[in-house]
Amino acid sequence: MVGGMNHVIEAIGLSQVFRQRQGLFASARQVMAVDDLSFRVAEGSALGIVGESGCGKSTLARMLLGLLPASAGTLRIGGADLRGMDRRARARLIQPVFQDPMSSLNPRRRIGATIALPLRVQGTGRAECRRAVARMLEEVGLAPEIAARFPNQLSGGQRQRVAIARALIVNPRILICDEPTSALDVSVQAQILNLLMDLRARFKLTLVFISHNLAVVEHIADEVAVMYLGRFVEHSANAEIFAAPRHPYTRALLASVLTPEPGLGLPEMPLGEGSPDPTNIPPGCRFHPRCPLATELCRNQAPPRGAVECHFAASGAGA
Ligand code: SF4
Repeated sequence: MVGGMNHVIEAIGLSQVFRQRQGLFASARQVMAVDDLSFRVAEGSALGIVGESGCGKSTLARMLLGLLPASAGTLRIGGADLRGMDRRARARLIQPVFQDPMSSLNPRRRIGATIALPLRVQGTGRAECRRAVARMLEEVGLAPEIAARFPNQLSGGQRQRVAIARALIVNPRILICDEPTSALDVSVQAQILNLLMDLRARFKLTLVFISHNLAVVEHIADEVAVMYLGRFVEHSANAEIFAAPRHPYTRALLASVLTPEPGLGLPEMPLGEGSPDPTNIPPGCRFHPRCPLATELCRNQAPPRGAVECHFAASGAGA
């Protein structure tokens, strides 16, 4: 679907395994947060990754940012292996926008200094930084006076605009947004999403947009990957996934968006018992304990890997 394009992110067999010890004498349990993922993101496109908490999406975000080395596999960003890249080179290429701007902004640092910091780290002089900050404030729709304020003098939406300005000041090619609107009021959420879409076009950004909320992802992404216990169980074009979801989990997620109170998590009913536990991944199809269509085959055998990881996706059974 993106053939012939330049892929600015390439993940090959990417895995992240943690060892978790519950007590001093307990044996360590293995947590498979990201399980052998391979995917590519075309330059200038937006990949939405959606899933419940514990599905591995935030771990994947930290891996893409180079904050967490992969247990296995290769990650190429802008054609170069992320492992061999120094911090400054990485920062010029890829920047984060996290969920809670309050915790990612230094409360004692003025906004202007906060936005300028990535440039200062790159060795840019003060006068040039001041000009760049003024320009970035305008880009994200904030008044110039904001530069002299502190984070606690700003609203949540303004703080997230500051975090976006700070991310964009080094002119990166990629923005990794991990639940960037989840901490904001609904009315502000839409403004921040629209701002990100504008900036994406203006700065020719590639976006990886991570959210538990399918409606948010639908708004912003060209391609959508639905993540469940460390795998992309369905990965296709936005229009396809919303018009004709093929994986039972994607269908359940979509059903949850259509409930009267979207954003409150998944409804109990279509997904049945058992929340996903990355320390204890079920055998066979990892979704089988919650899948209304599970058969004996699903309990015993993992579905083939591909765009839709379900034994019955190709035949259309259960549609
Ligand atoms: Fe459900 Fe079976 Fe498909 Fe897994 S393989 S999603 S258990 S129908």
